Amino acid sequence: MRSMMTIGILILLPATVVIAEPVAVPVPSAEAVRYQGIRDLAWAANQLLTLLVPVLLMVLARRSTFTKKLGKYAAFLILSVILFTLNALIQFPLDRIRTNALNRAEGSPDAPVLQWITGHLIQSLPGIVVSVVAALLVFWMINRSPRRWWLWATGVFSLLFLVFLVAEPLTIATKPLGQSAVELKIAELADRVGVQRASVALEDCEPFDQCEIAHVSGLGPTRVILLNKGLFENYPDAWSVQSFAHEAKHFVKDDNLTGWIVMTLILLVIFWLSDRISQALIKKFPERLGFTSLGQPAALPLLFLILSVMYVIALPPVNMFRQHVEFEADRFGLELTNANEEFARMASSWTTRSKTHVPDPGLFFMLFRSSHPSDAARIAYANERLRANAEPRIAETHIAETRTK
Ligand SMILES: [Zn+2]
Repeated sequence: MRSMMTIGILILLPATVVIAEPVAVPVPSAEAVRYQGIRDLAWAANQLLTLLVPVLLMVLARRSTFTKKLGKYAAFLILSVILFTLNALIQFPLDRIRTNALNRAEGSPDAPVLQWITGHLIQSLPGIVVSVVAALLVFWMINRSPRRWWLWATGVFSLLFLVFLVAEPLTIATKPLGQSAVELKIAELADRVGVQRASVALEDCEPFDQCEIAHVSGLGPTRVILLNKGLFENYPDAWSVQSFAHEAKHFVKDDNLTGWIVMTLILLVIFWLSDRISQALIKKFPERLGFTSLGQPAALPLLFLILSVMYVIALPPVNMFRQHVEFEADRFGLELTNANEEFARMASSWTTRSKTHVPDPGLFFMLFRSSHPSDAARIAYANERLRANAEPRIAETHIAETRTK
């Protein structure tokens, strides 16, 4: 018995001697900090401009008579094309300033203005077209069911989102997991948490950093863990394993399904509130607004304004929820691998390997923009686990030592 305890101490001792040092939160470059400030400011100012466009259109639509002369849907189509195009264009100047700041931080040259505008316009087109079609759909529902349109709109958009989520894996070219040591380790971990090997696949992306490092695509029976092939070629094996372990939580808990349910509830609340608020405003100020129901084309700017305000108000709670889901994925991954130091080093590398990344982007960014906990918080969590891991080992050694005495 005594010799067994001595062996116990011999095994435990090295663990107490090699206590992993906590990983320091990296200090971002001055350029990166500057870029983050400009990016946040540009985003906030563009959100305000988005509110300005419908206000401007409300005044113009009231004065012009074209919405009365043309047919209802033709007038609505023209008004929505103007609204969404203007909304995209008004954001261009600040987008240009932000892009230039990004180029400066990365040491890349600025694209000539005209070339940049053309490229940006082409990029914005799909968004404008989708917004116009969605607005037409909502307008049609408002006219078909003035009292319950918010319920129908939620149903339709929620269903479309569901179809997109379920079908997304079919649109991504993948390869099965290979036989390298790290891929076998991942397959073994997958087995441990009940993820079938066929549900883990490699995503080929050129250049590799244009795609996510790892993510879960699909929902319910179609879901699959996709690992970027470049992950294995560009990062240490432990980081690939950790990225998989994080995604395994999203897979096991089917977080895409949770996301869809939460999105549907938020849509329901936003559409219902928009209906209540706009109906109340129309009832109170029919003269000033120049229309008497939401089913009139001239009501589009008002509805857009209310929806835009709701969107910004919804961002902080939605982001807090997403950050919670992501934190839980970190926890799940670390409980699976216990590779706390490697995880902290990986999170630290996101700043040290980038010219524009900051580990602690501040409250504004965290509330309005961030889907994940800050790198600083993730490093702190891994350090906390490192410390907690070290402590019981010391305690166990003390107990073992006392017993042998
Ligand atoms: Zn995640």
